[in-house]
Amino acid sequence: MATKLLLAFAICRLIVTVGLTLKPKEILHLGFDCQLSVDPADVDSASKDFGLLTRVKPLAVLHPSSALDVARLVKAAYGSDQGFTVSARGHGHSINGQAQNPNGVVVQMSGNGVGPRPRVRAGDMYVDVWGGELWIDVLRSTLEYGLAPKSWTDYLYLSVGGTLSNAGISGQAFNHGPQISNVHELDVVTGKGELMTCSEEQNSELFHAVLGGLGQFGIIIRARISLEPAPQRMRWIRVLYSNFSAFTRDQEYLISLNGSQKFDYVEGFVIVDEGLINNWRSSFFSPRNPVKISSLGSNNGGVLYCLEVTKNYYESTAGSVDQEVEALLKKLNFIPTSVFTTDLPYVDFLDRVHKSELKLRSKGLWEVPHPWLNLFVPKSKIDDFNRGVFKGILGNKRTSGPILIYPMNKNKWNDRSSAVTPDEEVFYLVAFLRSALDNGEESQSLEYLSNQNHQILRFCDDDGIKAKQYLPHYATQEEWREHLGSKWDRFHKMKMKYDPRHILASGQQIFTPTF
Ligand code: FAD
Repeated sequence: MATKLLLAFAICRLIVTVGLTLKPKEILHLGFDCQLSVDPADVDSASKDFGLLTRVKPLAVLHPSSALDVARLVKAAYGSDQGFTVSARGHGHSINGQAQNPNGVVVQMSGNGVGPRPRVRAGDMYVDVWGGELWIDVLRSTLEYGLAPKSWTDYLYLSVGGTLSNAGISGQAFNHGPQISNVHELDVVTGKGELMTCSEEQNSELFHAVLGGLGQFGIIIRARISLEPAPQRMRWIRVLYSNFSAFTRDQEYLISLNGSQKFDYVEGFVIVDEGLINNWRSSFFSPRNPVKISSLGSNNGGVLYCLEVTKNYYESTAGSVDQEVEALLKKLNFIPTSVFTTDLPYVDFLDRVHKSELKLRSKGLWEVPHPWLNLFVPKSKIDDFNRGVFKGILGNKRTSGPILIYPMNKNKWNDRSSAVTPDEEVFYLVAFLRSALDNGEESQSLEYLSNQNHQILRFCDDDGIKAKQYLPHYATQEEWREHLGSKWDRFHKMKMKYDPRHILASGQQIFTPTF
């Protein structure tokens, strides 16, 4: 016990000397012992994210073992004379320092042994998960019961709290809505340090504010996620288009289908340069069937569009999957010689990006700067976007990463959530997932790619595209107000109610702490 106190005291002194306003006595009362760490390895890890564009060291890192630890820390931050900021960090897969915190404590929600294991209630078709749980572990737990969440992200090594603070989207969103549309209930520690349960029925304004709320209103401790019977296998199909209108018409048709006669996942990507077609996101085509754009007779300035769809099935329904896929493909207008099909277990499909991660890591190409840009583009402007961006700004240039494009139905999004989408029934995600390399090639440099992002954003402004950023990044409140549009007033009101001292998630740069 004496050693623990000494350790805690040493930490307190260190914290005090670096400027944290919490007093040593107070922190001893919190009883965090060595859970509150200033170990250089912890601090260094919390100072970085996947983007590798900014690096900000926190004063300390909390490894909580329960909701109470989180609540006690936030209460101390809220109640102390001068206060300090607190940022939850999931797996640190943000791009622009959204989980970083220069003047306070980072709560490391994900990690080995942090938080309770997922609890599946098979009879009620839901799972209760800790906010720092990674989606891959949620999947593994629910599969033990033959169940799985309905809505995904393309990559599963992201935390539940992190994706629910944004939206959580992938090719199932057209059908099930984003991940935030598939949550029944949350436990949240607000910016006053209160632990509150919220749902559609209970504390509903907090519930909706937190979903898509960029970590501004509370730290998600527990989420109750809706489940469905897990499919066993997927038929995974890619087809190519040289005509953008035909491509988007088919995507929009596929997401308009109701009932069971539809694909379960609809995505797509743009192929601006040939290097891209056989890259990490599309290893599917190679090495057995490498694709040459020229061989497909594209006379479209080199730009091709790939539609990507899957059909889930069970061994008991395997007999009919071919006919179902055939019937759906028959309605589409892709290049006839460009059908690429594969078949794999459900889990292998969901976890596909992790395989690419391992390959890139082995070549030293994962931990590089990622100047990503994600936009929601309204359907009515997607042709203009194609002309101005895919064929204009990017035409025939190296893009240094996949460009995803797929449509979603706004009626699957709850307008009461904090997530921001365009004002149209159908809108597209366009994601520029770039990796910058320091290899002497100007077109792959961070500066070049960042400039291209600015050009794209300027084009959207100048041409009235009315795009909204997904995983948004702004530096001024004025820009945030514009981004949130008609949602700003409620967003601000909820902030004043649940985090009046602006303690939480200051890395988003929306509100300035009031101390
Ligand atoms: P962090 O980066 O740790 O945190 C993000 C924000 O959420 C911060 O503001 C943080 O303070 C806050 N936060 C974290 N945990 C909590 C919590 N428990 N309670 C409250 N706030 C919290 N997104 C998609 O929608 N679809 C995709 O297909 C997709 N694919 C991706 C693939 C890769 C390789 C990467 C790197 C990212 C991808 N993303 C995708 C983006 C991803 O969803 C977001 O970056 C998400 O925030 C990452 O989760 P994280 O746990 O790493 O969050």
